[in-house]
Amino acid sequence: VLHYQPKVNLKTGAISGAEALVRLQQTDNRLVCPAKFVNIAEECGLILPIGKWVLHEACRQTQAWLTAGLDIGQIAVNVSARELRSDFLEGVLSILNDTGLDPRRLELELTESGMMQDMEKTLEILCALKQLGVQIAVDDFGTGYSSLSYLRRFPIDTLKIDQTFVQDIGGEAGETIVSAVIAMGMSLKQRVVAEGIETKQQLDFLKSRHCAEGQGYYFGRPMSADKFATLLAAKCRVGT
Ligand code: C2E
Ligand code: MG
Ligand code: MG
Repeated sequence: VLHYQPKVNLKTGAISGAEALVRLQQTDNRLVCPAKFVNIAEECGLILPIGKWVLHEACRQTQAWLTAGLDIGQIAVNVSARELRSDFLEGVLSILNDTGLDPRRLELELTESGMMQDMEKTLEILCALKQLGVQIAVDDFGTGYSSLSYLRRFPIDTLKIDQTFVQDIGGEAGETIVSAVIAMGMSLKQRVVAEGIETKQQLDFLKSRHCAEGQGYYFGRPMSADKFATLLAAKCRVGT
């Protein structure tokens, strides 16, 4: 099943989108978190059918919300490196076609290490997606072992500051790193999203540095599609 976590415009407090996060539902209805199965699914190749299902379901649900008059903004979907190496572009095209979702509503989240594997092929796929209007985000930014030069080469729209840096806000080193990433993103004309915001102190600091968007338990945990629809319908301004 997919759960949805709100992304929030830090200036207005309005919901600007959601990230779709997969959970495995056991026969007793208990949910298993992705940390327990995504790596295994990557190793054994099952991530390919899972990833296709996730993308299809996230696009289908987003289009259903839009049709019902609920403006969700953008939907972000996580993509593993392994998916990029298969028929990824064709898969995205066919899902967009099938669900009727406007490609500009879709953002794909990739990790730095995922992008670094087979750089030329990744660049080709990302450029083709970008031409369609699909947005590209770097997830967990700052935690991979990669050179910054890829930020110039790849068509990246969004940097997601990893939650470990956000949790270091309050300490001098943490604040310096977060400020530097926000400043770099702004001058590269990329949107910066802070992940894992849990406290008002973290939020206030990010706002003082003009971070555009945020996501975290402070605003809302990942929730079922039904709960997310209720939140959207209430047009909540969450916690800013
Ligand atoms: P991610 O993409 O960086 O997603 C953010 C994770 O941080 C989510 O964990 C979310 O529940 C959690 N989180 C959000 N706000 C907070 C907060 O304020 N504090 C803390 N401590 N955590 C917060 P989740 O759902 O367990 O997912 C973990 C990772 O699993 C994701 O990290 C992503 O890398 C991967 N994942 C999730 N869904 C998918 C999927 O559909 N496909 C693939 N390939 N990977 C996925
Ligand atoms: Mg993500
Ligand atoms: Mg992340």
